[in-house]
Amino acid sequence: MYSVIVPVYNEEAVIEEAHKRLTAVMRSVGGAYELLYVNDGSGDGTARILRRLAEGDKCVRLLEFSRNFGHQAAITAGTDFARGDAVIIIDADLQDPPEVIPRMIEKWREGFEVVYGKRAKRKGETAFKKLTAAAYYRLLRRLTDVPLPVDAGDFRLLDKKVCAELKKIREKNRYVRGIVNWVGFRHTYVEYIRDERFAGQTKYTLRKMLRFAADGVTSFSSKPLTLASYLGAAFWLAGVICLIAVLAGFSAAWAATLIIAAFSNGTVLVMLGLTGEYIGRIYDESKQRPLYILRDKVGFDNAEGD
Ligand code: UDP
Ligand code: MG
Repeated sequence: MYSVIVPVYNEEAVIEEAHKRLTAVMRSVGGAYELLYVNDGSGDGTARILRRLAEGDKCVRLLEFSRNFGHQAAITAGTDFARGDAVIIIDADLQDPPEVIPRMIEKWREGFEVVYGKRAKRKGETAFKKLTAAAYYRLLRRLTDVPLPVDAGDFRLLDKKVCAELKKIREKNRYVRGIVNWVGFRHTYVEYIRDERFAGQTKYTLRKMLRFAADGVTSFSSKPLTLASYLGAAFWLAGVICLIAVLAGFSAAWAATLIIAAFSNGTVLVMLGLTGEYIGRIYDESKQRPLYILRDKVGFDNAEGD
């Protein structure tokens, strides 16, 4: 059986079209499948539409969150509840074309346990987003020891063995694509062209995006913390140079001293904030709260989908 996990947040404009295309693709693949929609606390008509879809189609299962817990939590709920031998994670907005799924399944049949979608091209995304994404993935690669694929999102196929491992990892502030790489197994990819959103707007605000980016770094690297030592050493050196200049009687040396002092104060505060990012995440872990709370589950007592 195949499971397709679809995280959904305020997607009333696209969800029916997504369902149509996913159903057509999964039928063409053949064999049993389930479409597992995770409603991440949508405030629009999404819940109603999903319930209607679940009533009319016994391949549909629905998890409803008690509020918005975020995209990564929704994916996690999906991998927790998916029953398939192969599990596919796909966005609801049709930016990841469902038609790529059969190619992923082919690779899985060849014996690969993780097949991720590599974005050969991104359509309809701003130059700003493309540029920051490219820079970010490359930075992340330099900072971490786990090789993270560049230009890959959460659109991927996971073998059920991989899902079983993911279920054991309950870290907060999750960066799922990083965790998938961390657990290992045989990886490969298929290239695809990332489409424009079918309708509606991105549900990732700049704020959510920045938080997500920070989660990627802090979950997999503590290297940014060592920056403090290097910067500290550099300011020390600058201080010594100023001292010598002052003793040598250069009048401009006093101004230089003040400027360096101002910069070093700012740097100290920035490093304090950076340290705070890590401490905040330690705090989140220590609270041991669940990653998400379910309000409802629909379609889970049916016989397996066909
Ligand atoms: N999403 C979610 N919870 C959120 C934000 C987004 O479940 O808090 C879902 C959203 O419905 C979509 C997927 O995550 O299916 C990716 O979101 P989006 O397309 O808005 O992100 P983008 O492609 O612009 O990065
Ligand atoms: Mg999108």
